[in-house]
Formats: sequence, structure tokens, C-alpha cells
Amino acid sequence: MPNSIIEGDGYLIGINLPGTNLAGVENALRTISEDGFQACEINLSTLPFILYGDIKTEVVSFTKAIMEKYDLVYTAHASYGLDLRNASTLPLHQKVLNASVMVCSMLGIDRLNVHFEEHSPVAEQEQLFFESIIRAADLGQDLGVAVNVENIEVEDARLALDAVKRVNHPNCKMTLDLGHLYISANYFGYDYFKTLQDCLPYLGHLHINDNYGVFEPMRMTNKPLYDTLDKGSRFTFGLGDIHIPPFWGSVPIAKSLKIIRDSGYRGIWLCEYYSDRFSPFNHQVYTDVLSCLRNE
Ligand SMILES: [Zn+2]
Repeated sequence: MPNSIIEGDGYLIGINLPGTNLAGVENALRTISEDGFQACEINLSTLPFILYGDIKTEVVSFTKAIMEKYDLVYTAHASYGLDLRNASTLPLHQKVLNASVMVCSMLGIDRLNVHFEEHSPVAEQEQLFFESIIRAADLGQDLGVAVNVENIEVEDARLALDAVKRVNHPNCKMTLDLGHLYISANYFGYDYFKTLQDCLPYLGHLHINDNYGVFEPMRMTNKPLYDTLDKGSRFTFGLGDIHIPPFWGSVPIAKSLKIIRDSGYRGIWLCEYYSDRFSPFNHQVYTDVLSCLRNE
């Protein structure tokens, strides 16, 4: 088994669950396990755990029974649709966020990842975001679920880091996404490695993925259209936040992983890419990350 080669290293290397339906979960988790990974991140919108803010307990129990068959550590990602700065939809979105924390607890997941998204120039809107995160972090603290804020490519990662500092909650750390940091640093014009270093004391979780450092403005100007762009073509032209396997693009992954390793990070090394599009290479990605972590 590929797993045996990491015994003694203590590195938990994971991958995200690819898009699937409930019937496909078993197969997806088996493949992830067979590819050698020890952890798996589930986007809570991939499966119908939450319907209009309410938890569908049948779906949670069904999925949990499958998850327990595999020797994987699970982490979670909140829905991409979450918007914690819009007052008119906030009650529903806070309900979804809190339901996400509860679903994690029910599934035995101890960390939930929430996108920082774009900061608002309106202080009141920004305040809504902070209050929502603090409430979720409070709830998570009681349930054993950390709520971590992730930098994304459409915003300066230093603002996401500032948000974590400002939230100043023992149950809220930062999820650092290396691919997002790379695009953002190129676009907004700040230093990638300096920011990486600044994030280290706040690091709760890590996303490892690659791209070519190209910012795609449509992500901000027309998100609905951006979401319809053909993924294959975006790969071909290297457009934006393409989440290709680590070491396949231009993000300085090897140097970054070594800095993070040497800082004493003991969390999960979560590879977050379109793994279903690269499936014959997923085991290789696992071994590439592992050898990078093992080597000087
Ligand atoms: Zn990410």
C-alpha cells in the first residue's frame, strides 16, 4: 500500500473530494485512499448536506457511514456561495455557515474552511463578516470544529491575514492557499514569500495547488460568466485560478512547502486541484509532495 511509505514521517497529505453525487462517494474515497492520501477535504456543497440552511440528517448519516470505511482524516470547505457581507441575505447565509459547523461536528470533521472573499470598503459590511465568523468560531469551539479563513485570489492575502488577527479567536486560524497567494501577489503587487512568512504563526490549514500566476479579471467583473468558462480552455490558456496539480505550474510550491514544514506546521497538506481531470497522476502528485517534504 502506498500509505506504508509514509509511516514514521507523520505527514498527512490530503486531496479534495472531486465533484460527485451521493452514489459516487464510496468510489471517490476508495480511489483517494488507494492513491495513497491520508486526508480528504469535502466541500459541503458537493453533497446535499444542507438544504435552504437546514441540515439533512439522512444525508449526513449516509455519508458518514461511507467515510468511516476509509482510514482518512477529513476536513471541510464551506459552500462557495457563502456571502457574509450582504445584510439582506445574511440571516440565511449565517444559518448555512452555522449549519456547516454542525455538519462538520456530525461527520467527525474538526476544521472548516471559509473563503475571505473580497473585502468591502463599507465598514458595516465588513463588520457583518467579522461577526459571522466570530459566531461560527464560538459555535465551533463548543463542537470541536475550527473555523479557518482562507485567502482567495481576488483579494490581497494580507487582508485575509489581517481579518484572522482582528477576529482574534482561539478557534479561528488561517487557511493559506498557495495558488491564490501567488496570483494575488502578482496582481496586487506584493511579496509572495514575505506574506507567506507573515501567515505562518496563524496557519491552521493549507491548500496546495498550482497555476501560472495569471489573474482573470472576469472573476471579479462577471462571476456568472466566469463560472461558465470551459475548464479545459482555461487550462490551455493558463487563465486565472485553475487549480492544477502542485508542481505542474509556476507557483513556487517546493520552496513554500519547505518553509512551512520548517516553521513547525503540523497540519494537513491538502492538495486542492481538479483531481478528477488528472486522476492517472494523483498518486504521483502524492509522492511528489511527500518527497518534497522529506527532502532537505
Ligand atoms: Zn483553496
